[in-house]
Amino acid sequence: MSALLPDDEYDRVLVENVHPRQWQNPEPAPRYNLVVLGAGTAGLVTAAGAAGLGAKVALVERHLMGGDCLNYGCVPSKCMIRSSRVLAEVRDAHPLGIRIPPGAAADFPAVMERMRRLRARISHHDSARRFRELGVDVFLGEGRFAGPDRVEVAGKTLRFRRAVIATGARPVDPPVEGLAEAGFLTNETVFSLTALPRRLLVLGGGPIGCELAQAFRRLGSEVIIAGRTPQFLPREDQDTAAILARAFQRDGIDIRLRTTISRVVVMAEGKEVHLVTDGREDVVMVDEILAGAGRAPNVEGLNLEQAGVKYDLRSGVKVNDFLQTTNPSVYAAGDVCLAHKFTHTADATARIVIQNALFRGRKKLSALNIPWCTYTDPEIAHVGFGWGEAQARGIPVDTFTRHLREVDRAIADGEEDGFVRVQVRKGTDRIVGATIVARHAGEMIGEITLAMVGNLGLKTLATVIHPYPTQAEAIKQVADAYNRTRLTPFIKGIFRLWLKWTR
Ligand SMILES: Cc1cc2nc3c(=O)[nH]c(=O)nc-3n(C[C@H](O)[C@H](O)[C@H](O)COP(=O)(O)OP(=O)(O)OC[C@H]3O[C@@H](n4cnc5c(N)ncnc54)[C@H](O)[C@@H]3O)c2cc1C
Repeated sequence: MSALLPDDEYDRVLVENVHPRQWQNPEPAPRYNLVVLGAGTAGLVTAAGAAGLGAKVALVERHLMGGDCLNYGCVPSKCMIRSSRVLAEVRDAHPLGIRIPPGAAADFPAVMERMRRLRARISHHDSARRFRELGVDVFLGEGRFAGPDRVEVAGKTLRFRRAVIATGARPVDPPVEGLAEAGFLTNETVFSLTALPRRLLVLGGGPIGCELAQAFRRLGSEVIIAGRTPQFLPREDQDTAAILARAFQRDGIDIRLRTTISRVVVMAEGKEVHLVTDGREDVVMVDEILAGAGRAPNVEGLNLEQAGVKYDLRSGVKVNDFLQTTNPSVYAAGDVCLAHKFTHTADATARIVIQNALFRGRKKLSALNIPWCTYTDPEIAHVGFGWGEAQARGIPVDTFTRHLREVDRAIADGEEDGFVRVQVRKGTDRIVGATIVARHAGEMIGEITLAMVGNLGLKTLATVIHPYPTQAEAIKQVADAYNRTRLTPFIKGIFRLWLKWTR
């Protein structure tokens, strides 16, 4: 488990909030309505929501409350991305008629200090004291089951009516010869850097690898990104990944797809990495290696066997559609049991668990419409099924795409590389999924997610007035394109007759 470095005034505030050094665990209640293991997003939302409804709740955290999102994930990465975007804007200002004297560069220690300051500020929301004030019994220590109805933490036994496993996931250490000896960064250590690595190799072409590769490149590192798959973001359609590859090329990232690492050797000049692409070996020299390839659920050490909870080391705790484990009194939420490992899914599943565990609800995981966004530039946001996924599931779809090069605001902004694409069930306006590639795609996807949640089709989206000019107008233009398909030759004929008759 990683310590937070550099342990400056901001990190000290953070730790004082999310793992106070002098914290005294309370005396356990005779029995809890809910014991929550893990105080990342899933655990915090479950505990706060349940306590707010009057439940007696215990929350157990072994390291830092706030989990990955606050400490090693969303928050620090988005702070860095913000700084890196500003520098990219400066770099790209010339075509917009702005002359910036040469020499604009990132002050990396200041970028990271800003991140630590903001992370410390945000950490108040997740603080142990705040949760105590919400009426939650907060226990700091490693939690493990001591039976099907009890958990042990720091020498105390917590008996429960229901429990929730929300222990999250951790980075997978790539099994590469020499890598452990050479040393490498993960999301748990990269945000502790105070000096910019001159040469950085990023392993993994998924969201974490892509976001951080671009951020470090823009902040000044020479970056190589290596992924096993033939495209970045393997879950996205090919043309989506191609836009990202073009953006990376513009940024000057050295792209190695279909690439594995055979070994790493420590040399005086740095870490010598042997890359194999399509059977051909290449050797590169770097200063740091960032492993962003895969996440493993935290299921070990919980004594799940004792609780009768089945799990898999790769996919995590086994749950049914109601997020109930094989022990009917124990539920799971967040990264420890989900394929979609995001903060908002941790939050959404926590809400399902509160209803199902405490109020005999029947809320289903499968009923959720889960959007996600990769915060590269451009951003890639997604909800429901893409074209490829719909084909794979045998769902016949019609696809409507509006390219940003046809959208006035995107042209004015100089942000034309991207699109809004919506899949509807063939012959209807029912949305089955959408992809948006745009500078602020993460903000735009909410409208389509709302439409899906509210069972609103493209016909309704076509009636939504968007302020002009916005990039979100592309959504309405997609809906207009759908509406035009309703104008069949037969209907056009009727309109013509009517207009002739009323002339
Ligand atoms: C670099 C990076 C960037 C990301 N960016 C985004 C983003 O922009 N948007 C997004 O939606 N998602 C993002 N994510 C994913 C997001 O961080 C996770 O999906 C989210 O944190 C999952 O929350 P969780 O509560 O399930 O697990 P976690 O946040 O992992 O929390 C689990 C907690 O359980 C504790 N724990 C584990 N075992 C025990 C035990 N035995 N006893 C007590 N406590 C225990 C851990 O210490 C931890 O605090 C990012 C992830 C990374 C790594």
